[in-house]
Amino acid sequence: MSHLKVENLSFSYPVGDGRHIVLEKLDLSADKGDFISILGPSGCGKSTLLRLLSGFLRPEEGQVTLNGSILSSPFPEGQMIFQDTNQLLPWLSVENNILFPRFRSLLGSAEKKLSENDRLLLETIMDKTGLLSFRHHFSAQLSGGLKQRVSLARAIFAQPQILFLDEPFVSLDAPSRYELQNLLLNLWKKGGWTVFFVTHDISEALILSDKMLLFTGDGKGPLLITNFLESPRDPHSEQFRKEKLRLYSLIDSL
Ligand code: ADP
Ligand code: MG
Repeated sequence: MSHLKVENLSFSYPVGDGRHIVLEKLDLSADKGDFISILGPSGCGKSTLLRLLSGFLRPEEGQVTLNGSILSSPFPEGQMIFQDTNQLLPWLSVENNILFPRFRSLLGSAEKKLSENDRLLLETIMDKTGLLSFRHHFSAQLSGGLKQRVSLARAIFAQPQILFLDEPFVSLDAPSRYELQNLLLNLWKKGGWTVFFVTHDISEALILSDKMLLFTGDGKGPLLITNFLESPRDPHSEQFRKEKLRLYSLIDSL
């Protein structure tokens, strides 16, 4: 059985007296552990699809099922990082922001009640995301890159089955983006989660994902293709360049 399955999914937004159709009769399935990029130009429906997959939006027609059950709302095994939003709570420290999704009823005193395993997990995640020396900082004291690290650490500490990431690294400088891409890949390899990763950057999709859902310009709806480039992927290799050109020709414009 597929882990996450989309069947005959359609969705549109109301515009004036009519509807703006974003997705029509989409079928898709993801297995546990898949890393799938959702790739396409601005406005093609990437964020809308991610919200439908994570239960934040309901399909107009068709359905999304998780392990065989129909999804009708956000679910605890899924963790979402939204596009361009600072999701950190400003009155909580970095450490308490990371603890928040799992210990919201113990706010402030959560760190004192952690089991030994959770304490170890917290330390490991903060170490791997480079946050140990910022644990007592508040979001107003953090750069954009550090905030993204906290969002990622928080999503991972919640021990998700599925991570939904909407252009999480888009506002970062190139070195931070590169570092966080590698961090995400390493954590994903160990964590065994399923990842849906929205991006409009073909190179980023090719570096990170094994499968790509391409919104193409032919109006036929997104196309699922496999990334055959061997991992770790070198963006300067000839094969990478060729694959990138092939994808460019499939997508209308970026
Ligand atoms: P992407 O993430 O690929 O940039 P979106 O999923 O955000 O695209 O949007 C897809 C289309 O739906 C765009 O044309 C956008 O303008 C439109 N849209 C998005 N959100 C809404 C909304 N809440 N109401 C009406 N139209 C919307
Ligand atoms: Mg978007």
